[in-house]
Parts: sequence; C-alpha cells; structure tokens
Amino acid sequence: MSLSIGFIGLGNMGGPMAANLVKAGHQVKVFDLNRSVVNLLAENGAIAADDAKHCATDVDVLISMLPASKHVKSLYLGDTGLVHILAKSTLVIDCSTIDAASARDVGAELSEHGIDFVDAPVSGGVAGATAGTLTFIVGGGDEQFAKAQPVLADMGKNIFHAGDIGAGQVAKICNNMLLSILMAGTSEAIQMGINNGLDAKVLSDIMTASSGRNWTLELYNPCPGVMATAPASNDYKPGFMVDLMAKDLGLAMEAAQQSNSVTPMGSMAKNLYTMLQHQGAGSEDFSAIFKLFSKE
Ligand code: NAD
Repeated sequence: MSLSIGFIGLGNMGGPMAANLVKAGHQVKVFDLNRSVVNLLAENGAIAADDAKHCATDVDVLISMLPASKHVKSLYLGDTGLVHILAKSTLVIDCSTIDAASARDVGAELSEHGIDFVDAPVSGGVAGATAGTLTFIVGGGDEQFAKAQPVLADMGKNIFHAGDIGAGQVAKICNNMLLSILMAGTSEAIQMGINNGLDAKVLSDIMTASSGRNWTLELYNPCPGVMATAPASNDYKPGFMVDLMAKDLGLAMEAAQQSNSVTPMGSMAKNLYTMLQHQGAGSEDFSAIFKLFSKE
C-alpha cells in the first residue's frame, strides 16, 4: 500500500533509508538541516520539505533518524515541538539510537496528544540501509508495532518487537556495546598478528574460519587493505562514526549503572572510544579504533 511518509534526518543512514521508501512506491517528503542531502533525494523522486513542520504535515507516517536524544527531544517536544502540529492519525517512528528514557518521554507526550509512537533503532550499518536489509528493533504497543511493520519492511529484512516503548533502545545498546568490544578485540588480535610477522588478510581469513569469527571480521575488517569495501580501506570514511559509537557506549554505561550490571568489557570499550575521540578521530568510522593498537 502506498503511503504518504515524512522523513527527517537524511545522514549516512537516513538518506539511503528514505531512498528505499521512494523505491517502494511511497510518496516521501524529506527534511534535513543539510540542504544538499534534501536536494539529492528530491532529484531521486522525494519531495523536498522546507522545514520539519512542513515535512510532518499531511503524512500517514513520520520517521526520524537523528544523531542523539537531544535532537529527537527538541524535534518533538517543547513549545515548538512537532507534537503540537502532528495529526492524530500519524504514526511516528523514531529510528535514532537514543536512551530509553528519552524514547519513553517522547512516546508519552505524543500519546497524550493521541499520536501513536514506536522507537525502532536499527542495526546493519550504511550497507544494510542501502541494500534495504536493516534489522529494526521496535519498542511499542502491539497495535502500533503492527502499523509500523509494513513500512519498516520496505527498509529492512528483520523486524523484531522487543517490548514496550524504550525496549528497542535497550536491545540496541546491548548490541552496540558487544559490537564495540568485538571491534576492539578484532583490531587488537590482527595487530598482534602483524607484529608477529603475519599477513593481515591471511590472518583474517584464518580467524573468519575459526572460533574467533565475528561480524567485524566477516563484513567490516578494521585493518586497511584487507577488505576493499570496508571503511578501513577508504581512509576510515564513515560508515558509523566514532562519535556515535562513543555516544552509544555512554548510553550503555548509563543503562549498566541504572541496573547495577557488571560490564567491564563495555567500560573498557567506552574508554578506548573516548580516547580515540580525544585524538581527533570523532568523525572517522568506528573501525578506526584499529589505529590505537598500531606501534607506529
Ligand atoms: P549522521 O550524522 O550521518 O546523520 C544525522 C543527520 O541528521 C544529519 O544529516 C544532520 O544534518 C541531521 N539532523 C540533525 N539534527 C537535525 C534536525 N533537528 N532536523 C533535521 N535534520 C537534522 O548520523 P547517522 O550515521 O545517519 O546516524 C543516525 C542515527 O542512527 C544515530 O542515532 C546513530 O547512532 C544511528 N545508527 C547509525 C548507524 C551507522 O552505521 N551510521 C548504524 C545504526 C544506527
């Protein structure tokens, strides 16, 4: 069924996600503070909105894909928030990775105004966003999940209902904490192999076929030259920025503290990513953590 969809936040992830909705035959209105990405999508069949309010008007579904909680809260809440202009029939889907409490705040405020909301953070990176194979991890009521599912299916392959509003965010930060640990561990192991005379590609092939196998080795090798399509072989151009991984690890550490969880590996990964930010690599891809282990 063709829907009228508003899409706000057209960065590394939102841009290709919105493009897939256009390809699926929906009427897609797009907005971003960066005008050039709006124009690019408009050249490919989307409708350029002048501002967020224009983008959120007369749509069946409004999707946001923004960097962090503060952007999402200021978009929807407060005196100038979209909560005041959205039609009651609109379903709001926020795909950004933010803290669960902020997702619940946004959901509660929208629901007070009679507007349906789900949080639906994603996994799969820019490659998954482009191919339309993302994993969506949805938090919200059964009815709202059922409404969101067909729209999400036009951008992704696996759609999970994690629980009530906020549950999608909790699952997402558990995943990203594990991903950061795997990326750091994979980097450390490859560099140790290189330091002991091994070829990085040969070692990666061996570990991919052995018990150290993981997503970063298979699809996102952090060592330059091993995988031509990975950010590591393209000057660590993101992809998924160090700043965003550091943000997610901050959220993970908050969740750990609130639940009295023991997370020594996550805590170490948070420190390593903060160190990488201090070294000026915040806008590089998160696989740039490999550079921390270099002896040069
Ligand atoms: P990005 O920085 O590339 O894109 C964010 C976009 O939002 C930018 O184009 C920016 O101009 C726009 N923006 C910011 N504030 C805005 C506002 N008020 N109104 C309109 N536009 C606004 O980030 P990204 O990599 O696309 O990530 C987006 C979210 O997805 C983040 O929460 C991130 O943690 C999550 N995520 C990213 C990846 C990845 O691989 N990049 C994977 C999974 C999840």
